[in-house]
Amino acid sequence: MTTVGILGGGQLARMLALSGAPLGLRLLVMDTADDACAGQFAPLLVGDYRDEAALAEFAGKVDVATFDFENVPAESARWLADRIPVFPNPGALALTQDRLAEKTLFRELGIPVPDFADVATRADLETAVAHIGTPCILKTRRLGYDGKGQFRIKSPADLDAAWTALGAQASSVGLILEGFVAFQRELSVVAVRGRDGEFRAWPLTENWHVDGVLSASLAPARVDTALQATAMAHAQAIAERLDYVGVFALELFCRDGELLANELAPRVHNSGHWTIEGAETSQFQNHLRAVLGLPLGDTSVRGMACMLNWIGTMPEAAPVLSVAGGHWHDYGKQSRDGRKVGHATLRADGAERLAVRLADVGEALGRQAQVAPVVARLRET
Ligand code: ATP
Ligand code: MG
Ligand code: MG
Repeated sequence: MTTVGILGGGQLARMLALSGAPLGLRLLVMDTADDACAGQFAPLLVGDYRDEAALAEFAGKVDVATFDFENVPAESARWLADRIPVFPNPGALALTQDRLAEKTLFRELGIPVPDFADVATRADLETAVAHIGTPCILKTRRLGYDGKGQFRIKSPADLDAAWTALGAQASSVGLILEGFVAFQRELSVVAVRGRDGEFRAWPLTENWHVDGVLSASLAPARVDTALQATAMAHAQAIAERLDYVGVFALELFCRDGELLANELAPRVHNSGHWTIEGAETSQFQNHLRAVLGLPLGDTSVRGMACMLNWIGTMPEAAPVLSVAGGHWHDYGKQSRDGRKVGHATLRADGAERLAVRLADVGEALGRQAQVAPVVARLRET
């Protein structure tokens, strides 16, 4: 029996473990926390990714390794890759850990990006803001997620506050200034590339964020085929350049019909959770197939799907469980402010039917504001 090792034991590893069961796989999850939620479905090795002894124990027990978490130190990934197959490769992981390197690569590949500048000092920030203009966003180059490590600069008067908030991190994780994109939509491509180079993608997903955290996803996104094709071409170009193996998500802003690349997540992604019920093959199953060198599964959709994230606390399950096409995912985590604790996916065969189900569920859960933009999109003509 093949054992797949996963560095990081959060909900992504948990869903990978669940989707690996029908393939007859054994999984081993490594996490620094002994209550990591993937541990409820897969053996958990508690250890630090930076600790060579812990990594050696992990490497000795698995046939292939992958990640549920993009901030595993690149040196740890390289150490492992010298001993066992690691997918995605450590170079791809390292590149996506740095927003500056990532945006530079996108630009090199001819993929439009928001204006950006490296910021090492307070003087750099002044120059960059003068050049890029306001509004803009100062972000840490490394280690940010769920909108953490970001400061929105609305006018030059906010410069001091931005530097107070993030300046101390300029010398450790680095900073990048980005122009604020007044987008009409946020989209993502969730795609997979096999060990033999085969590339497949699920249709574009539209995403809504609240306070920098994903709130809802709708798939397939209601966009024209030209935009869809452009997004797919961008994703494939990046995957080929990085010799990427596995699932990844490319986050895009759509402004006036143009796509701008925001970032690449080198792993299964929250905006692909709808694929569990909404596609022939889920992102989790295809990620495992890819890293194992198995044939990739069909990425075509079954009707339309909307995923709603549960942040902080789980709502009541019954309204979702009782609606046709309703699916429930509880990650078994403790409630905590801002933490992703679960999600629901609603599926239907057509836009209006999905809109009705969403509106009903939003009403029953008192989450009208969360479903409203999706319902509005579904009812646009
Ligand atoms: P994730 O959890 O997706 O990894 P993150 O912390 O890496 O998030 P980003 O994806 O860079 O952060 O930003 C989070 C959200 O903030 C974006 O999805 C978008 O809604 C908004 N945002 C980020 N950068 C910009 C920008 N340059 N212009 C407009 N909005 C932006
Ligand atoms: Mg990110
Ligand atoms: Mg993001």
